[in-house]
Amino acid sequence: MPLVNAKEMLTKAKAGHYAVGQFNINNLEWTKAILLTAQEMNSPVILGVFEGAGKYMCGYNTVVGMVEGMLETLNITVPVALHLDHGSYEGAKACIEAGFSSIMFDGSHYPIDENIAKTKELVAICEEKGLSIEAEVGSIGGEEDGVVGAGECADPDECKMIADLGVTMLAAGIGNIHGKYPENWAGLSFETLAAVQEKTGTMPLVLHGGTGIPADMIKKAISLGVSKINVNTECQLAFQEATRKYIEAGKDLEGKGFDPRKLLAPGVEAIKATVKEKIELFGSANKA
Ligand SMILES: [Zn+2]
Repeated sequence: MPLVNAKEMLTKAKAGHYAVGQFNINNLEWTKAILLTAQEMNSPVILGVFEGAGKYMCGYNTVVGMVEGMLETLNITVPVALHLDHGSYEGAKACIEAGFSSIMFDGSHYPIDENIAKTKELVAICEEKGLSIEAEVGSIGGEEDGVVGAGECADPDECKMIADLGVTMLAAGIGNIHGKYPENWAGLSFETLAAVQEKTGTMPLVLHGGTGIPADMIKKAISLGVSKINVNTECQLAFQEATRKYIEAGKDLEGKGFDPRKLLAPGVEAIKATVKEKIELFGSANKA
């Protein structure tokens, strides 16, 4: 099945009270692990690409080529969206050009007027080309590709203004943070989430920084209108831990253990297990 935009899968998720996972990709192993797991679980999935990761993978054209090749060769039949994560204005335009099926324009660091003007322009382009578009209001804490945010809560009225521009989904800061959560983290602000949901109605809401949010908070967030949850760091940590174990056990020194297909296999399996666990938690299994 060719790439699809994220609109239909997220509309269904919002109506069905579950969430679709966005798993960020970094290379071929990541992409393959996520696609195979989504297929196995019969779940829709969104592949997220940071601009930095796009650069690392030799540009957006390479990413599109790799993903489209895999969809065909692995015979992936579940809906897959290829989504730019925290895109700049220029990055969004480049991904639209390269064949991504979905973009996020992160204008949260602009004054609200400028965020609205740029979002509006990109909404029109995405509408014309059949892409889905995510906007962000209120910066999300932690480090996102070099930009450090404070983990603030979005203003529900600003959320409504951006939602009304015709975006497909909206990321609102509700005290969530990218990366590992600090021990003194105050938790998600369900008050903010409920207020945003009330103002934005059927708009699918996006929860960034899904790594390390306790399962009960995830479930509550889904019940309050979150239909897309972004997972990035958790797959990285799973890959790192499994790879470390393989090397510390000296397996790379045994036989052909140095073969990258062997060396990277435990990490790939760990990513698969993490993605599977998240799909189960988010409730998107068998929703393809
Ligand atoms: Zn994010």
